[in-house]
Amino acid sequence: MRVGVLGGGQLARMMALAGHPLGLEFAFLDPSADACAFPLGHALHGAYDDPAKLDELADFADVVTFEFENVPAAVTDRLSARVPVYPPGGALAVAQDRFVEKTLFRELGIDTADFRAVDSEVDLAAAAEELGYPLVLKTRSEGYDGKGQQVVRSAEQLASAWQAIGGRPLIAEAFVSFTREVSVVAVRSRDGEVHCYPLAENQHEDGILTVSRSQPADLIEGAAQDAAQRLLTHLEYVGVLALELFDCGGELQANEFAPRVHNSGHWTIEGATVSQFENHLRAVCGLPLGATDARGRVAMLNLIGQLPPVAPLLSLPDVHVHLYGKRARPGRKIGHLTTWAEDEATLADRFAEVCTHVGREPASVG
Ligand code: AMP
Repeated sequence: MRVGVLGGGQLARMMALAGHPLGLEFAFLDPSADACAFPLGHALHGAYDDPAKLDELADFADVVTFEFENVPAAVTDRLSARVPVYPPGGALAVAQDRFVEKTLFRELGIDTADFRAVDSEVDLAAAAEELGYPLVLKTRSEGYDGKGQQVVRSAEQLASAWQAIGGRPLIAEAFVSFTREVSVVAVRSRDGEVHCYPLAENQHEDGILTVSRSQPADLIEGAAQDAAQRLLTHLEYVGVLALELFDCGGELQANEFAPRVHNSGHWTIEGATVSQFENHLRAVCGLPLGATDARGRVAMLNLIGQLPPVAPLLSLPDVHVHLYGKRARPGRKIGHLTTWAEDEATLADRFAEVCTHVGREPASVG
């Protein structure tokens, strides 16, 4: 079967690495000439909305999927007229607008921080009056990794926050005092079967994910998986989705979902029976889903901005190195490391050693 992918970054690359053993073939459409997935399939170099390139992708593919959520509706519409596109455009539309997304959480009975739409400074003052301080002001669309976001701690900061990101549709959210950030990666097949991976516990630095640990049998796992299941079923979703949540001392508040394979699911490559990448492909290709249960315990560390020496890392037991073939640049995700162990205590020791090797303080990664 032939899979067309919008985007040729590391997520597309890891999809191809998971799909080749199943005999799948790939084409990637990406605007950068050196997209890191290109060596793993048919390279289509061009803009995401270039009609000729989209037609080439549709000519190639039996099914089309994507590695990022900001795909314009016109693009999915053009492709869908020729070839099945999964996940469905409706799920993308929800994920592209934080206000619509949080409204859906509410409708589905999934707890989320109180929120207001903000289209003017007057709206912002009114929202602050109702939500109180601190509040988080975000762009409704195209924000990621903490970009397009301002924490407002007092009335004096309203004007500067508006100046920083205002002039476009915004959302104001009540500030959530969470104890930790978690996510659930889940997959739904074409015929509606849903499987959820165990919970992942996530740490961010400067808004970018740095560490994800699998937390099988976590106390809040059932509630998080139930929320993911409701979302997937409602959206008539096909493929992998990641739901990010705040844990507030055992009470969950949904933050957002990503309609794609997700960085907080990279641990599944070594830490689950079938990885998120393979299960995404199985789902979109109409194949039976694989088991999502955990194998041992794993911790994933993103390599951001610069590469550590690889050989010493490979000499450590059960450390797996994933390099994306991208040029190093500050703030850029260029690879990740996964540490595996049979039990939590061994994992903590091994992960501390990995952190030492890459020049991080083990204490700062939990
Ligand atoms: P987001 O772009 O929504 O994923 O937000 C990026 C990060 O900002 C999250 O991972 C949280 O650490 C933090 N954050 C987002 N929304 C809130 C909120 N309502 N209250 C507290 N922290 C938040």
